[in-house]
Amino acid sequence: MDEYGNTGEGRATRRDEAVRAAVEQGLLGPDSPIVGLLDVTGIRESAAELRAAFAEVTAPGTPVLHAFAVKATPLVPVLRLLREEGIGAEVASPGELALARAAGLSPAETVLDSPAKTPAELREALALGIAVNADNPQELDRIDGLVRSAVSRSPLGIRVNPQVGGGSIGATSTATATSKFGVALRDEGAREWVVRAYLDRPWLSRLHAHTGSQGIPLSLMTQGVAETYALAEEINRRIGRPQIDTIDIGGGLPVNFASDVTAPTYAEYARALREAVPGLFDGRYGLVTEFGRSLLAKHGTIVARVEYAKSAGGRAVAVTHAGVQVATRTVYVPGSWPLRITAYDGKGRPKSGPEVVQDVAGPACFAGDLLAEGRALPLLDQGDYAAALDTGAYYFAHHYAYNSLARPGIYGFVPDRAGGARFATVRDPQTLASIVAESGGAHAGALTTLHAPGSR
Ligand SMILES: *Cc1c(COP(=O)(O)O)cnc(C)c1O
Repeated sequence: MDEYGNTGEGRATRRDEAVRAAVEQGLLGPDSPIVGLLDVTGIRESAAELRAAFAEVTAPGTPVLHAFAVKATPLVPVLRLLREEGIGAEVASPGELALARAAGLSPAETVLDSPAKTPAELREALALGIAVNADNPQELDRIDGLVRSAVSRSPLGIRVNPQVGGGSIGATSTATATSKFGVALRDEGAREWVVRAYLDRPWLSRLHAHTGSQGIPLSLMTQGVAETYALAEEINRRIGRPQIDTIDIGGGLPVNFASDVTAPTYAEYARALREAVPGLFDGRYGLVTEFGRSLLAKHGTIVARVEYAKSAGGRAVAVTHAGVQVATRTVYVPGSWPLRITAYDGKGRPKSGPEVVQDVAGPACFAGDLLAEGRALPLLDQGDYAAALDTGAYYFAHHYAYNSLARPGIYGFVPDRAGGARFATVRDPQTLASIVAESGGAHAGALTTLHAPGSR
């Protein structure tokens, strides 16, 4: 149970009803054997919890922008829904910026943070007035040139890496000593360089850090924010005025993949921050947050039909349509990214019966394409459905085109009044024509027209 007395039961009930309704309404079936489902009610709840958590700890009137890390769920309707819930966008590529703009997000609701921004991207961001955090001294040089040549309303800052250390997953630990992100603050001379950068540039008004994602303990995230705050205080003291007026604390709240309960909560994190860094919330600084996974993960479900149920070497194996193409991290690094799997029968009803240790396999042509290995579940039969839970962030929205497997359709749902669900299309299933087009179909003869000199 979380601190709101929430056991996640509502979430599980909505999910079960949506799976059954998806089968009844034909979104799922023999000819559409995999879908991604998004729980609109749950997304709205998480957005509201985020806003309330920071409203509780900030001084009245403090400007706070919650910018959803678009990479977590790069889907235009999701960005639009979040915008309606008062959430902006953190973008890290021209594609993500285009998605945010397509969703109707304004420059004032958008923050650009990528580690490899080209001059053209920087110019566009400054022309639009989008907030930019410079990753490194070379990028700051480029921004200098743009600021000299044109007036921009963009709030500008520098991203620092407080180098407080990593968490349990190396790939998502951004504050290690050698992380590729930001200015490594504890390196020799780096802190002084950052202070000078602000002293020399009265227009630098923000400071940014993102200490890591899944696997980082709250204490380490809090420490990263505390060090960033201490640096902002030092810079403002040295300059003699509050030049830094906004601190961007990044995202990274970990997600509980072990049950339907939200843990930790935004409220717990916000209170831990207030405890550790009270000055951050006394009204002298505006705040930007950049949560991704924690806003969406628990609201997504992949549901896949069991095409065949077989047995090999005494192990039951359900061959489903969900594997590496929709759960790439889980399949390649199962130890770090285990997913809960639930079993539904052919009508989409939760399956009961004795648990059997089995493999839940995907459709891709390599042996390791397993959603779950040796998992105890009611035995999956041909025509049943397996659901991979908590996949609303960094899963089905991040298609991996192995075996030219089609991107599944994604549907948002809300409960109806009759124990079922109503759906809206978020993303159409990919067509075969689109797979061919994306695979060079328009250039079919291209390579046969090239001949090395003298070869013919
Ligand atoms: C990935 C990322 C985020 C979001 O991280 P989550 O763990 O999904 O909350 C926020 N800010 C930056 C700069 C990122 O790279």
